[in-house]
Amino acid sequence: MKTSNIVNETVINDTIKRNSGNDLRKFDEIIQKSLKMSGISFEEVAFLLNVTDENLINKLTAAAVKVKEAIYGKRIVLFAPLYTSSYCSNECKYCGFKTTLGISRKRLTNDEIKRDTEALINMGHKRILMVAAEDPLLSASTLAGQIETIYSIKHLNGQIRRVNVNVAPMSVEDFRILKRAGIGTYQCFQETYHRDTYSEMHLRGSKSDYDNRIHVFDRCIEAGIDDFGMGFLFGLYDVKFEVLALLQHVKFLEDRFGIGPHTISIPRLESAEGSDISKVSPFLVNDTDFIKITAILRLAVPYTGIILSTRENQVMRNRLLDVGVSQLSAGSITNPGGYSEEKSSKVKELDGAQFEVHDQRSLDEMIYHACLSGFIPSFCTGCYRKGRTGEVFQDMAKEKHIGSYCSMNAILTLQEYVEDYASPQTRKAAEKTISEQLSVLEENENKKSLIEKLSRIKSGQRDLMY
Ligand code: SAM
Repeated sequence: MKTSNIVNETVINDTIKRNSGNDLRKFDEIIQKSLKMSGISFEEVAFLLNVTDENLINKLTAAAVKVKEAIYGKRIVLFAPLYTSSYCSNECKYCGFKTTLGISRKRLTNDEIKRDTEALINMGHKRILMVAAEDPLLSASTLAGQIETIYSIKHLNGQIRRVNVNVAPMSVEDFRILKRAGIGTYQCFQETYHRDTYSEMHLRGSKSDYDNRIHVFDRCIEAGIDDFGMGFLFGLYDVKFEVLALLQHVKFLEDRFGIGPHTISIPRLESAEGSDISKVSPFLVNDTDFIKITAILRLAVPYTGIILSTRENQVMRNRLLDVGVSQLSAGSITNPGGYSEEKSSKVKELDGAQFEVHDQRSLDEMIYHACLSGFIPSFCTGCYRKGRTGEVFQDMAKEKHIGSYCSMNAILTLQEYVEDYASPQTRKAAEKTISEQLSVLEENENKKSLIEKLSRIKSGQRDLMY
């Protein structure tokens, strides 16, 4: 593979230098422009990255939440990761699965995947992010079989309706195999866009090839997977550089293929077995900067979902919901087989897990808290199953037509959760959320149709959507 020039380090470094300072007028102009929701320029992002004044950061986060709500409404999409293998051929300095670590490893059989899937369905989940380390024995056909297994499980009223996948980059042919199996979003993080740091962090295995990784979405789009998720690991290199490099990557994909990322994830470096990088890296991102960067991403790529995992604790997750995060994992376990293990042996510490989980609220508790904070927890899979993916989805999001689908599908899937899984206190909170949402809807045909669908769900029908 030829050396990629997607990321131009000189341009990034010069842009960061050129845009330093707390010029109030310029700041206000950028914020006003961001509220039009068509994004802001590369230079403007660099300017915001250099802002340090607390009042300005507060204005920035307030703008981010306005943008998120104008596009997606108050809904928060919930999902859980399902790890299918912790065998790995790579040596990534920061990762708890790295090949030389003597941890107990596991590759789930299809029966074990069924058991974990059933456990997730019984919690109320409808969306899964299937995750695997770079296991040489997991071919594309095996991964496709795992996706099909997850989709095949029906338990009481429940079923997984969307399987997103985070696995190592693959060829166009292999992506086609995943496409045929019904993959939702394909997710892959560059970890760091800084070439020298990338080489320093990835010592062995195919992941040490920067160019192969950065061109992964070219191949996935060529295979017809037009929902893809990007990201980098916060803490490996200078975060201002990483944000601008990510935006250069987005621009490259938009220019070449006409589509940008469906989602951007914001994983922040965590403790992992056998790695002290999360303690000693000079580039660790503090809470204030983490909040600021999340807000800037929301303003820079307003149509893109921002995903936050349980790497963050409850306080930070609550804060980031207010800054434009639109998808959250909940009730997560990051070791293969963890969901169906006996409660007593459930891994809370790092034994065989990829990283430490800091928000250990159950899905039910998460839903309860989200409702109390004014959000609509959602298990919606409507867009993907109605063909609103890739460019179609992004055009609708850019034109702000996606929010009403998001809100109505969120209400319907929350009602399903109430009927099938909610604890008494969550049921009460969710019913209040649903009735408040209904009360602010205009009286029209859409509202009538939504009320009719809600009553069908209450009388036992499932999987109704827009
Ligand atoms: N094998 C796949 C690949 O190479 O992309 C999956 C990688 S891993 C299972 C998923 C993500 O977890 C990684 O891309 C990385 O960003 C993140 N991760 C790894 N170690 C981490 C750590 N110590 N703290 C936080 N996130 C970590």
